[in-house]
Amino acid sequence: MSIDSFASLSQLSRSLAAGEFSSQELTRHFLKRAHSYTGLNAFITIDEDQALTQAETADDDRTAGRATRVTGIPIAYKDIFCTRDLLTTCGSGMLHNFVAPYDATVVERLRAAGVVTLGKANMDEFAMGSSNENSHFGSVANPWDTDRVPGGSSGGSACIVAAGLAPAATGTDTGGSIRQPAAFCGITGFKPTYGRVSRYGMVAFASSLDQGGLLARSAADVALLLPFMAGFDPRDATSSPTTDTWLEACREQPLEPVEGLTIGIPEQYFDGLDVPAAAIDAARAELETAGFSFRSVSLPHSAAAIPAYYIIAGAEASTNLSRYDGVRFGHRCESPQSLEDLYERSRSEGFGTEVKRRILTGTYALSVGYFDAYYLKAQKIRRLIQQDFLDAFESVDLLLAPTTPDVAFRRGELTDDPVAMYQQDIFTVPASLAGLPAMSLPCGVHQGLPLGMQLIGPHFAEQLLLRTAEAFQRRTDWHQRRPEGY
Ligand code: GLN
Repeated sequence: MSIDSFASLSQLSRSLAAGEFSSQELTRHFLKRAHSYTGLNAFITIDEDQALTQAETADDDRTAGRATRVTGIPIAYKDIFCTRDLLTTCGSGMLHNFVAPYDATVVERLRAAGVVTLGKANMDEFAMGSSNENSHFGSVANPWDTDRVPGGSSGGSACIVAAGLAPAATGTDTGGSIRQPAAFCGITGFKPTYGRVSRYGMVAFASSLDQGGLLARSAADVALLLPFMAGFDPRDATSSPTTDTWLEACREQPLEPVEGLTIGIPEQYFDGLDVPAAAIDAARAELETAGFSFRSVSLPHSAAAIPAYYIIAGAEASTNLSRYDGVRFGHRCESPQSLEDLYERSRSEGFGTEVKRRILTGTYALSVGYFDAYYLKAQKIRRLIQQDFLDAFESVDLLLAPTTPDVAFRRGELTDDPVAMYQQDIFTVPASLAGLPAMSLPCGVHQGLPLGMQLIGPHFAEQLLLRTAEAFQRRTDWHQRRPEGY
């Protein structure tokens, strides 16, 4: 038995079906790797017994003829997805001891399909960050260069996939947290349309933006796993009842490339773009050879996306995080003297600096006297940004943009400058504000570090995105590059 740690999900699926190895052997293989690379700090929790018990059930299901195409595949979950019987910390000291009484819908569905839970991935506290340096459990290294950040907030998930510690991991994306770490770690990251994946059991950060998705090796692997976790959920009022028969069919069928679409190039995203520009140009030429055509489009309000996002996300976070009061769950201070003392000290001790900054700015933006000037104005900008995209999609099928302004930055480089850190999200935040599906795929290497490009589609155009990405990935091998030493 030999297992390729960087094999695609579809390859692993075929090998399991052919009996080349069992899920227990595959799970043991990845558990062993997780233990060999603890220096990356990519996992917060691993429960070997639980993983192996699930793998045993998967093997039994296969023997009994009850296997799906993903039965027995071990994956990691970002530690924002609630899991019964396993810690869910959300990267926070506030939830360092929290075990949820139920599974998130995403976890429940993937488990029902036979997917094995390898462990819970490190992340920025409450998904606030772009570098994974805001985790209560320590920062995560980028496997391409351990002095660099893996991106955030799904930094653990990205690191795990890039280092071959699991074939895929779940992530969440509120303003870029799947796409940006995927770009920094040289893997494929997919954020579905807002409402495509249930938020039930996903710890809330900014509820009008939060969306669960995947970090994986390729578009084909995303297409294989996504249908098992997506779909309407009556327990999430914003989950969409729109069904997608194409996506459903991906449970059984391999991903086929699409041809001949028209792709828009948003001019504002390339104005002054430095490092990723050449790689994206080359990718564009490759897609042109494959029959895609390109035209320039304008998204004039994108420049206002960062301030609008940080006001809206902060405002929603300040409301969502008010539940951590030291009473119902999470951290509680020692011997409180009064109710106020209980609230004050539990929250001061439980939350980290960045989370406190968001709560303060968010509460300020919502306060009487400032509501109109900040929150309301940000909502108006959000509407204009949405309209820009809708207008662009009148003349093009998809958009091609950079994912990040540069390659992964150094650990510690931006920690003292929150605004510079926020600017990192310049290319990912607009699609989030508009609720659009978007993905990042590897498109080059610069000074030994991976570069990503972003595809953005109209609402519910998961099919167009994944099939365009497949057309690109069949013609190139950027997604097969891997860091040395793993
Ligand atoms: N970096 C952004 C933030 O800190 C996005 C985070 C996310 O998508 N969860 O808010």
